[in-house]
Amino acid sequence: MEQIKYDPASRRAEEFINHQEIEEALAYGWENRRNRRLVEGILEKAKLRKGLSHREALVLLDCELEDCNRQLEALAQQLKKDFYGNRIVMFAPLYLSNYCVNGCVYCPYHQKNKHIARKKLTQEEVRREVIALQDMGHKRLALEAGEDPVNNPIEYILECIGTIYGIQHKNGAIRRVNVNIAATTVENYRKLKDAGIGTYILFQETYHKESYVKLHPTGPKHDYVYHTEAMDRAMEGGIDDVGLGVLFGLERYRYEFAGLLMHAEHLEAAFGVGPHTISVPRIKRADDIDPSVFDNGIDDDIFAKLIACIRIAVPYTGMIISTRENQACRERVLKLGISQISGGSCTSVGGYAKPEPEDECSEQFDVSDKRTLDQVVNWLMRLGYIPSFCTACYREGRTGDRFMSLCKTGQIVNCCHPNALMTLKEYLMDYGSEDTRRLGEALIEKELAHITNEKVLRLAKGHLEGIEGGKRDFRF
Ligand code: SAM
Repeated sequence: MEQIKYDPASRRAEEFINHQEIEEALAYGWENRRNRRLVEGILEKAKLRKGLSHREALVLLDCELEDCNRQLEALAQQLKKDFYGNRIVMFAPLYLSNYCVNGCVYCPYHQKNKHIARKKLTQEEVRREVIALQDMGHKRLALEAGEDPVNNPIEYILECIGTIYGIQHKNGAIRRVNVNIAATTVENYRKLKDAGIGTYILFQETYHKESYVKLHPTGPKHDYVYHTEAMDRAMEGGIDDVGLGVLFGLERYRYEFAGLLMHAEHLEAAFGVGPHTISVPRIKRADDIDPSVFDNGIDDDIFAKLIACIRIAVPYTGMIISTRENQACRERVLKLGISQISGGSCTSVGGYAKPEPEDECSEQFDVSDKRTLDQVVNWLMRLGYIPSFCTACYREGRTGDRFMSLCKTGQIVNCCHPNALMTLKEYLMDYGSEDTRRLGEALIEKELAHITNEKVLRLAKGHLEGIEGGKRDFRF
């Protein structure tokens, strides 16, 4: 059999996600799981805040030395604070259509499922969904759709994006639309970019080619290479904020961890900019899907360690957790590296405006955290976080490497921090419950003290007064 060489800068899927390199790296991690000198050296390197290679990160993931694992956790918490402060960015998914021609065996949208209610939002229904989301206080959405060239062609997605950005209801506005749709062509990525999307998100599901092919037996998604090279095409199409992810439970978590980091290394090597975000979904029960049939499920302890190791390996990359996870799990991993969470989510098509009747389920998966957005915002503040509805970066052109340089120069505190406080203030004024408002006002007062630049502080105070007086949408 021909040997495929590992090359992070290559544009060929099987060279930048190289099976042999992953297997060798896994063996290296495992062999060194009790190698104190090596583990301590890697932890020292991680403290330089420039990240780790996939091999180094695997040694930490496998490490069985208790004191080193405690250090690892403390370091992840520290890096989280250094790069993201105590801000947590809020978003909600919006399901446009669950028509799908793929056969993904873990997803209830798979084509053979004749039981699930198939729905596709009309533009009027998109409007109703968006108004419901705006009325909760959301400013940032992640669009979700099945893959179906007839029912959900790119023109449909583009039309929905146009509709969403065009809706201004009371003080509401969706200011950033991220998109999670199937792998597509450079031309279509360019159209998405021109439509003003934020991040293009695509989960690899699994980096293991053989498993991938079995888990996606039919439909366009069956093509591992096309799927794995999607982010390269997105970058070619001008999208420089891309979001990676795997669906934990499908394959060995160590394999997926290595694949994720190699994918990040590839984007860095080939395009000079790493992924904007990494998502960490775990398989959930859904219509005709029973998660227990997938035998690579991971428990909460491994899940937490994975998140801590990702935080350390790619400190500049945002990390997203959805309502697939319950409150207790979300609380635990927020500290370790998560920077964005969803709240008040609904995974059915049209479910924000009108809850579905029992006999008409179109949900993609069961939501574990069923709290309202206001409850999530309130909870975050009680834990000491600033819920942020900020969307400034991409609207100010700070995407890709420009965003990364903001992180690297430590200017986040004079930019993201006041933006978080101003957008929280908007939320409190327009949507917050009485208790949330009271908590939030006190938090803003306290947090203003952390803005180090005098001019920014003066401006931020002025803008907060402006918001009090009815003005909206200030940003640095
Ligand atoms: N159809 C697009 C695609 O193929 O990438 C859009 C993504 S789909 C609406 C969003 C993601 O949900 C999938 O990429 C998958 O990882 C995840 N998902 C599918 N079934 C799931 C399940 N049973 N539990 C949890 N997440 C699931």
